[in-house]
Amino acid sequence: MAWYLNHYHCDSCDTEWEDDWSCCCDDDCPASGSRHWSPHESEDLTEVIEQDGDEFVVLVSPETAEHYPEYKAVARFPSEAAAHRFVVDGELT
Ligand SMILES: [Zn+2]
Repeated sequence: MAWYLNHYHCDSCDTEWEDDWSCCCDDDCPASGSRHWSPHESEDLTEVIEQDGDEFVVLVSPETAEHYPEYKAVARFPSEAAAHRFVVDGELT
C-alpha cells in the first residue's frame, strides 16, 4: 500500500497541517473543523531510507498496511547513495 504524508491548508482560518494516510485523502481542518480540504502537497512515504548504525536500511510499507505504514526492512546498504539507487530503480520484490 502506498503511504503518503499529505500537507493541507485551510483557507477559512489559514491553518497549515499535515497528516499521513494510505492515500491522498481529503482531511478536515483541526482548528476550525472546516471540512474536506484536499492536500496541496503529498510526499510519497511508501519507501523510506533510515540510517541504522553505519548501514542504511530501505523500509517499505507492504500491501497489507491499512492504518499504519507497518514498515518492513527489505534491504541494507553500506551507503545512503546505494540505498537511494535501490529505491529509485524499483528493485523491490
Ligand atoms: Zn480552518
